[in-house]
Amino acid sequence: MSKAFISCDLEGCSGIVNYQFSNPEGKFYQQAQAYMTGDLKAALQGLQSAGADEILVNDSHWNMTNIRIEDLPLGVNLISGGTKLDSMGEGLDDTFDAALFIGYHPFWGEPQGVIAHTYSGDVMEVRLNERTVGESGIVGSLAGYYGVPLIFVSGDTVLREEIRGLNPDIHFAVTKEGRTRLAARLYHPDDVHQQIEKEVGKAWRNRRSIKPLAVSSPVEFAVKFKETPMADICMRVPGTRRVDNLTVAYSHKDYLIAYRAFLALLYIANSVKTPPM
Ligand SMILES: [Zn+2]
Repeated sequence: MSKAFISCDLEGCSGIVNYQFSNPEGKFYQQAQAYMTGDLKAALQGLQSAGADEILVNDSHWNMTNIRIEDLPLGVNLISGGTKLDSMGEGLDDTFDAALFIGYHPFWGEPQGVIAHTYSGDVMEVRLNERTVGESGIVGSLAGYYGVPLIFVSGDTVLREEIRGLNPDIHFAVTKEGRTRLAARLYHPDDVHQQIEKEVGKAWRNRRSIKPLAVSSPVEFAVKFKETPMADICMRVPGTRRVDNLTVAYSHKDYLIAYRAFLALLYIANSVKTPPM
């Protein structure tokens, strides 16, 4: 009995270039849902053809209700809605044989990363044990904590480099080439789907030779916020350390606890966001 976990984000999917797509209030959001579902279905096709018995999909974008269950093939389960304790990693545990990320995007600060960000608009950088990471590295390491290898990611060309830096054995399908943060040279979705299906199949057959991402203990998340009051309020959390004016760090021997504390810091920081001036 083989089991696959998919975390599906939206910004890195085919066809998507700016907030008109990624924001549920945006003009092109419904189109974006179709693009996201198309990329996801290609991955599901790849997994099912390659023999995965059980597949769990976690909807990982914005309000996390972007995917409609009836659009997915029979036998696939979907975690929909939020707020979820483990956010983009909700549902992961040590029973899975592999993890796959669809439609992921680069971390904040990459000039050609399409809609590049790290979890929220409040965050300028996340360093995991001194290394700058994006959502792929953070959620991929949660899978690694459970001994589950991240075997496949889809997204833009900037993300491909980010993933190579994590582990060059992880399979990748390119969806577009970023021109700026809000513009891209798009590949035709049909071409992208073919590529995703093919690479996912290869990744699944190859899953046993791809090592889970490992983070040494103690695990430290250092979060650089956009505004100093965000760092100030995070100091209310026991065990936090002020690194500099904008940066707060939290450290724990256990990755899962450090990851959840990191998510908690984001919520607390957001509560003191300065209104537009
Ligand atoms: Zn997203």
